[in-house]
Amino acid sequence: MVGGGVVLEKDNAFGVEGLDICIEKLMVESKDRVAGIDSGLECEMMDVGGGVIKEWKDIPMELLLRIVSLVDDRTVIVASGVCTGWREAISWGLTHLSLSWCKKNMNNFVLVLAPRLTKLEVLILRQDHKPQLEDNAVEAIANNCHELQDLDLSKSFKLTDRSLYALAHGCSDLKKLNISGTSAFSDDAVAYLAKFCRKLKFLNLCGCVNAATDNALKAIGYYCNQLQTINLGWCEKVGDPGVMSLAYGCPDMRALDLCGCVLITDESIIALANNCLHLKSLGLYFCQNITDRAMYSLAHSRVKDKHGVWQSVKNRYEEEGLMNLNISQCTALTPPAVQAVCDSFPSLHTCPDRHSLIISGCLNLTSVHCACTVQGHRSFRIPHSAH
Ligand SMILES: [Zn+2]
Repeated sequence: MVGGGVVLEKDNAFGVEGLDICIEKLMVESKDRVAGIDSGLECEMMDVGGGVIKEWKDIPMELLLRIVSLVDDRTVIVASGVCTGWREAISWGLTHLSLSWCKKNMNNFVLVLAPRLTKLEVLILRQDHKPQLEDNAVEAIANNCHELQDLDLSKSFKLTDRSLYALAHGCSDLKKLNISGTSAFSDDAVAYLAKFCRKLKFLNLCGCVNAATDNALKAIGYYCNQLQTINLGWCEKVGDPGVMSLAYGCPDMRALDLCGCVLITDESIIALANNCLHLKSLGLYFCQNITDRAMYSLAHSRVKDKHGVWQSVKNRYEEEGLMNLNISQCTALTPPAVQAVCDSFPSLHTCPDRHSLIISGCLNLTSVHCACTVQGHRSFRIPHSAH
């Protein structure tokens, strides 16, 4: 149906035959309405622009795109095969698409659809079931979808560096890229991508052990200065030089996940504390080289920020600062240092309801508590509705 060659999957909830019957039925109904059996608004709606709609292909493009925006991604693809007019309309108007539901034909779908969907801005190709995407599909995306801003290629185990080189050249407007769990990418390819995709704000490299090295992070810090969120979870080759490059190069950093980055030390955290004053979320699970020095640098960054630009704008000021900190298994930390961080950032909580300061596995930190669990403790924190 789609592209004259790709057969929709059996598990498609909205099969081709079902759709045909459905369309037939709706066409009969619409004729009845035009004939006056139904009256009022529905009849009026079928009389668009002075001409009566007799067939589905006559639906104005704007109306079709409005309908398409309300249905699921499978139905959009089925609809694009109804007639040439619909296909062209959808090609022109579709900006968001997810093919994550595909269990076996994702690669073929992308090869067929990419040349048609040149206006795509968001494309979700996560493969939870089994890896399907190959480099030729990503190359088809890069060759056709030049307006792409958000691409999810997570769990694409079959992809190689060829894909990243293609994206670097074809999709330089990317703001969000998720390649988590793709272990075959090299750090050279990520560095190359960073050089061309300088608008990146969100980058998920979780589990990309070979791709996320200090070498790659230096390139990201150098070229991608708008970066706000990066996930480097379980990238065990990441060290201080890489994280420090991010800290110096990406001053707008909001969320950084370094869980399982076992090589990093206090130097990384001090650089972040001094340069990334908008940092809201920091994951340091199992970073066992981290000591109290890092905690005091974070606590001190809050004091510095207090005299910053937000001082007079209280509401916005309250929103600034760390809201999530995971220091589970950071066994070298002591209670006074962690308490200092907790006191500096009112949004950090150890209480069960909010639990945004995560210290599990640190048995010596059980005395650390957020302000709201300490009787009679006064803080400048604005009371939160969740309490
Ligand atoms: Zn609390």
